[in-house]
Amino acid sequence: MLFDPHPKERREELYDRESEIKLIKEYVEKYPFSILLGIRRVGKSSIMKVVVNEIGSAIYIDARKLHFESGGWITSESLIRSLENGINCINGKIKRVLMDMLSSVRGVSIMGVDIRFAKDTKISEIFDSLNEYGSMVIAIDEAQYFRFYGRRGGKELLSLFSYAYDNLPNLHFLFAGSEIGLMHDFLGIDDYNSPLYGRVYGEITISPFKREVAKDFLNKGFEELNIEIKEDYIEKALDYLDGIPGWLVDFGYNYYVTKNVEVSMSKVFAKAEKFIEGELKQLEMRSNRYRLILNAISMGFNRWKKIKEFVENKDRPISNSRLASLLKTLEKMSWITQEDGVYKIIDPVVEKVIRERF
Ligand code: ADP
Ligand code: MG
Repeated sequence: MLFDPHPKERREELYDRESEIKLIKEYVEKYPFSILLGIRRVGKSSIMKVVVNEIGSAIYIDARKLHFESGGWITSESLIRSLENGINCINGKIKRVLMDMLSSVRGVSIMGVDIRFAKDTKISEIFDSLNEYGSMVIAIDEAQYFRFYGRRGGKELLSLFSYAYDNLPNLHFLFAGSEIGLMHDFLGIDDYNSPLYGRVYGEITISPFKREVAKDFLNKGFEELNIEIKEDYIEKALDYLDGIPGWLVDFGYNYYVTKNVEVSMSKVFAKAEKFIEGELKQLEMRSNRYRLILNAISMGFNRWKKIKEFVENKDRPISNSRLASLLKTLEKMSWITQEDGVYKIIDPVVEKVIRERF
């Protein structure tokens, strides 16, 4: 069902994205590293999961989930657990061959049809063994969260990735992230001090649907459910939700349940509100001014001087360098973009929610 609110996992469940999937498959074959970028709810995880399922010899790891489950710091043990889980999710023949190869690694045991890694199993040895299998994809979703791995901002992990890059030609990493700038910062491919500096990689950006595509997406979704909906309603939904599949799915699903446009729309915004609230809390732990800046921009105080005035009126004086650094971080986390000195909240749903409810 197109309007299923979970990430999709199979091609039949996914609307379009054929060319993106094709490109990703080409890239993971061609490059040791590929990066999949795009704002939240645009469909990265869905696309990644479909690719992982279709490739077969591939492991999916959600770094964001690891981060939340391990209380803010990702330990090597939790990473080992997710590798173990990723391998156990591979089905059939491939898994059996992998288990055979991995069984010679220290700390690895086989329990029936599943593999089990002792908590001190060396990740580099797991990688070595996966490399022996032949072409193998390790897909890491929301990879920027791995900056919370270990004590050095994820550096140990980057060293491991660079070891794999240089020595394990059969391993192909696919990184995805919605906090686009942070993802670049974390991988540090342009950063002289990063273990990954200067490596060649493939990059794919997933964009929201264009208006006509988004319209067709909604129509197909409703058709699938045998629901009639006025064209006006669809246009209205698109005016508010843009072409971001995640919001379109939420709208479609709510309309299916309630048959009422206003109610459906307000449910989308209510969900967005919860979602944003969680993320704002995280931001506020770092500085309460993030919220003020987003408030300012959402209300149209969208140039440097106006943002600064707004923040200072509500709070206390802020230095130019501090404001610059907060804006930069918001940009890196894909909350905002800036063009010709004008700042804008990227996602129109987020913008509306911040303007009206925060
Ligand atoms: P992201 O990982 O970029 O945040 P998700 O893959 O989680 O996005 O997608 C957000 C929501 O939108 C999910 O409910 C997913 O099912 C839906 N979705 C995204 N892209 C598509 C698509 N091409 N076809 C159908 N549903 C999609
Ligand atoms: Mg995702």
